[in-house]
Amino acid sequence: MATEAFLPLTTPMKTFLSWMLWPLLVITCLLITAYGMAAGSPVLYFNFAYLFLIISLFTLEKFMPFEKEWEQPDGQTFANIAHTISSKGTVQLLLLWGGVIGLTEYMKPLADSTPYGIWPRDWPLALQVIMGVYIAEFGLYWAHRLSHITPFFWRFHAIHHSVTKLWFVNTGRFHFMDSLWKIMLSLTPLLLLGAPMEVIQWISAVTAFIGLLTHCNVDMKCGPLNYIFSTPELHRWHHSRDLSEGNRNYGENVILWDQVFGTFINPSYRPPTDIGMSDYLPTKFLHQLAWPFLTVKARQRLAPDYVYKPFVYEEK
Ligand SMILES: [Zn+2]
Ligand SMILES: [Zn+2]
Repeated sequence: MATEAFLPLTTPMKTFLSWMLWPLLVITCLLITAYGMAAGSPVLYFNFAYLFLIISLFTLEKFMPFEKEWEQPDGQTFANIAHTISSKGTVQLLLLWGGVIGLTEYMKPLADSTPYGIWPRDWPLALQVIMGVYIAEFGLYWAHRLSHITPFFWRFHAIHHSVTKLWFVNTGRFHFMDSLWKIMLSLTPLLLLGAPMEVIQWISAVTAFIGLLTHCNVDMKCGPLNYIFSTPELHRWHHSRDLSEGNRNYGENVILWDQVFGTFINPSYRPPTDIGMSDYLPTKFLHQLAWPFLTVKARQRLAPDYVYKPFVYEEK
């Protein structure tokens, strides 16, 4: 193949890379972000790091894919990108609207002024960020787990699970309601505790980098890191059609809450290639956006082949 001739990777090189890639990419992105924070341009440098990660994963998915079958197009690229933009845009709009009604001004003292809250601002920044990641993750874990348990939240979250292949492009494939629900549960405790904005920026950056990695179709071996972080190896189980595997590994950044609440799995055998869900979902973006709000009758009008199926939850 032309790509392999351009960059020949021998098996030992691929093995070495597969073990090194996850920590190497995360550390590089964190260093770029840290430089940006120190230089006073956190957003610009975060975007550099994010772009670097996108280009790296795009290239690596070509040279060392985890699953060859997932290289085939699934017709969902536009929908994936449109959901990413609409969910990220909704969160931005909410923050803007918060500013308009004065909510942001109200929140500012919570986040920026020294006297508010019980947040340990005198701790080293790295320690504050680590603690913040675990606190935010508690909200993310329960928002995600409840999205699998309750029919109402599953309506929205199902869009994320409708993909039949994993690659970095479907990382942001979330219904905007799903994103709002998650951000609410993860951000509120941090703001109430009085976490500084710098810590919140760091947590957002870490979540963006680790999230992009969890969906990538790159052959990465994470070994002991699978017991600390949400890695691609762990997240592939979460996309299994088999609900006893799929209703597991809810973690987004770290996997502690899965270990605490008994939903962690890390089997030694290979996860299934045939991923997805048994629920029906239309293929067009706008139909997918409307789908969770529709009644059975409205769904049948939109998609005549739609057959109603009762919600099923299975964990063991
Ligand atoms: Zn899920
Ligand atoms: Zn996912």
